[in-house]
Amino acid sequence: MTMLIPKTVTCSHCNASNEVIEMASTSSFGPPDLDLRPAEMARSTLHTQVYRCTGCGFASNNLETEEDSDSVVMQSVEYQHYLSSGLPGLAISFACCAMIEEKRGDLESTGTQWLKAAWVCDDEGIEEGRDFRVRAADALCRYLSNNGSKSENVENIRMVIIDVLRRARQFKEAADWCHDLIAKSSEMFLKKLAEYELTLIEASDDACHHVPDLTEGE
Ligand SMILES: [Zn+2]
Repeated sequence: MTMLIPKTVTCSHCNASNEVIEMASTSSFGPPDLDLRPAEMARSTLHTQVYRCTGCGFASNNLETEEDSDSVVMQSVEYQHYLSSGLPGLAISFACCAMIEEKRGDLESTGTQWLKAAWVCDDEGIEEGRDFRVRAADALCRYLSNNGSKSENVENIRMVIIDVLRRARQFKEAADWCHDLIAKSSEMFLKKLAEYELTLIEASDDACHHVPDLTEGE
């Protein structure tokens, strides 16, 4: 089950008091989606993974810690555009948080925040999720090409990029990543997963799918 804790935090940017809900624990049952979005109940905890100050619009998973670069981002036209957009509030928070994380130099987190913004759009049934996936894939690709090949999480990130591109209908780019992973990975499970993605890509399938049971025959 999921355990939530209401908390009052002070925004480090403007000192406003904010009521937030923190997650003490959660669990999930069943396979994740191909982009590693977990099954329930963890699936429904996105509102505990980002906060946006009611006073100034600062968006972060920790409103109590500000970095020097944050103010520049918050004053940008794009940040202000998102704040006043008609998107779901949680998608706005993740989009703003993604911009903050990019300016801080954490491209893995940037990609993850854009992807979570896309998940909110999925849940709300709105189209903007595709644009957020394009931005997520862009950030994660840059992360890998900069320094991410040293990350122990590199194979998972490659699989996420493939699924994010497929769901953004960038089928050719997704297929290129699949072929590259099949050629280079030593993990049989990941090769099979990439082959499964290729069957979806060839069918121009941009829907959400779970990680399938690929253990048969090993
Ligand atoms: Zn604030």
